[in-house]
Amino acid sequence: MARVVLISGSNAPAADSLLSQARGMVDSRIGKVVCASHLYRSRAWGFDAPDFSNQVLVAESSLSPDAVLDALHEIENSLGRDRRREEREKAATGQRYASRPIDIDILFYDREVIATQRLTVPHPLMAERDFVLDPLAEVMGDFVHPTLGKSIAQIRKQRSKA
Ligand code: AMP
Repeated sequence: MARVVLISGSNAPAADSLLSQARGMVDSRIGKVVCASHLYRSRAWGFDAPDFSNQVLVAESSLSPDAVLDALHEIENSLGRDRRREEREKAATGQRYASRPIDIDILFYDREVIATQRLTVPHPLMAERDFVLDPLAEVMGDFVHPTLGKSIAQIRKQRSKA
């Protein structure tokens, strides 16, 4: 069993309900959710859009990293994510990101370091994003980041001083 750490996010009007549904689907399709942070509100990062809600989920899974990613895409699709619409929105607005009903990324897969065309784990931007570090610190502040060599709490503290 691998311990898979995920972050879900939504800036849809029904964000909190979508995150709750996503949590249930992660539990049934990826593995038992053994820990979940509270929901955190934050401003949209990198583009002009309504605020986001985010939640960190920790699941025990027997799936491979690629199978976890496939399952996440299925969950996102069944909750209404439409990547082609997002591409059109990005082209129309010139922004790097588009609104989406749900987004779920893999932050950690045990302590594995993965760099393939499809997957970068640990997630490369987590150390720059308060909306990731805040909920992550709530549920696993002592966890030492496999490549940065510091705990989540330390990374967060250093970031808040910077
Ligand atoms: P997104 O638009 O956030 O769903 O992500 C787009 C793509 O990022 C996905 O199709 C994945 O192939 C890729 N990706 C790379 N690393 C990760 C990761 N750690 N978690 C989720 N997606 C990832």
